[in-house]
Amino acid sequence: MTTVAIVGCTHAGTFAATSILAEHPDWTVHVFERNGTLSFLSCGIALWVGDHVSDPKKMFYSSPEALAEAGATMHMRTDVTSIDVAAKTLTYRPVDAIGVGVGDSAGEERTLHFDKLVVTTGSRPVVPPIPGIDSPHVLLCKNWDHAIAIKEKAKEAKSAVVIGSGYIGAEIAEQFSLTGVKTTLVDGLDRPLANNFDKQITDQVAAAFEEHGVTLALGQKVTAFRDNDDDTVTVVTEKGEYTAEMAILAVGFLPNTDLLKGQVDMLPNGAIVVDDYMRASVPDVYACGDSATVFYNPTGKHDYIPLATNAVRQGLLVGRNIAEPTVKYLGTQATSAVQLYDLSLAASGLTAAGAERRGLTVRETELTEDYRPDFMLTTTPVTSILTWDPETREVKGGQFCSKADISGAANVISMAIQARFTIDQLANVDFLFQPNFDKPVYYVGAVAMKAAAEA
Ligand SMILES: Cc1cc2nc3c(=O)[nH]c(=O)nc-3n(C[C@H](O)[C@H](O)[C@H](O)COP(=O)(O)OP(=O)(O)OC[C@H]3O[C@@H](n4cnc5c(N)ncnc54)[C@H](O)[C@@H]3O)c2cc1C
Repeated sequence: MTTVAIVGCTHAGTFAATSILAEHPDWTVHVFERNGTLSFLSCGIALWVGDHVSDPKKMFYSSPEALAEAGATMHMRTDVTSIDVAAKTLTYRPVDAIGVGVGDSAGEERTLHFDKLVVTTGSRPVVPPIPGIDSPHVLLCKNWDHAIAIKEKAKEAKSAVVIGSGYIGAEIAEQFSLTGVKTTLVDGLDRPLANNFDKQITDQVAAAFEEHGVTLALGQKVTAFRDNDDDTVTVVTEKGEYTAEMAILAVGFLPNTDLLKGQVDMLPNGAIVVDDYMRASVPDVYACGDSATVFYNPTGKHDYIPLATNAVRQGLLVGRNIAEPTVKYLGTQATSAVQLYDLSLAASGLTAAGAERRGLTVRETELTEDYRPDFMLTTTPVTSILTWDPETREVKGGQFCSKADISGAANVISMAIQARFTIDQLANVDFLFQPNFDKPVYYVGAVAMKAAAEA
């Protein structure tokens, strides 16, 4: 009988557990999770803050009971405290009296011998060593407990400073501003969403924030947090001071892999390097989701891109490959999207800045045109930016921004990158035309045609 230990259970852990049990119903699968819940969709946090969620319980798509029903031995509210990969053992301890799994007793540390280990410990928010950062007014935004804390605080708060203008910070700042909270968005970079989109698009995002009264404090790093007597916190930056009732810290994530340090190969940031079958560098150790690397197709290299899309797909692959390598991982383009006010933004693959950070030369082609014909009663422009390799002409990325729903366009680019399409091939794809949806030449095809003409 094979015994599997899965450490951590949000998306990667949930999908790994269900896929392993589906493939191997006779195996013993132990699942360890330090929280009392599993499968929390953190992408719902900002929407919940803005009262766009029908029922917060629906932000969970599985439960300890459902996994137990599928055959897993659940250890909820249980911390895995050490892992010895060579000895194939781990130690674990319930974090409180409620958190006892089958055969555990409150607080006692126990040891489990496993045949196979699945590391799904995910990521933790980056908390830089800034003076005063442990202020009770500074909140993180990652898990269900954080969501509850933000929601509670947001009920009363009239002002907020959001630090970090990536997807998470931008979404929460948007929802605060829509619910009447006076909001300041701080970032060390000089554009919101600077790591996700080019300036032509982020200028539209900056304008939308300003229209909704958000103070953009960009191009300035936070140097200190200062608690005030009136229950507020002052966020001190290189260029100013911003006082509010709460501050949300959303400046990135790091893999949560200290338990494995020195035992398996990792990237410098701690992401566990996995191969096409989710195997770590040591036999019988698998990793997936935010604790692991992804294979980034635009560069053909391992990278660290923490997204639920990767966690889910990699988790499923663990079940298919844990007995023997069977189904290969197709890699990722980091395809993603965000809605800010009435702007839809979606992207896949490299931006110019992303390529530069990785030492790659790319070219970009931009096209702004209405998404459907002018004879329709309404239409609206789409900004499309195509990133491509000037030597091979391969598509390397695409970004879209519009008041129309452009999310499908990023998925098209994702497939083009994965299939290693050239701009010439993308320009000749058979895309649909129907005036409700697009013009005779779909804007994805149009930007590819423009790129091919420029090349
Ligand atoms: C606000 C927000 C919005 C997001 N929106 C999107 C989105 O729209 N689209 C998208 O694709 N991605 C989104 N993401 C990213 C996505 O949530 C993550 O990529 C995803 O959660 C990764 O899943 P995971 O299971 O690998 O890791 P995690 O979610 O980090 O889960 C790891 C789990 O392991 C547990 N754990 C860790 N160490 C131990 C231990 N020693 N013992 C026991 N348990 C342990 C943790 O408690 C946790 O439950 C968002 C993230 C945030 C924070």
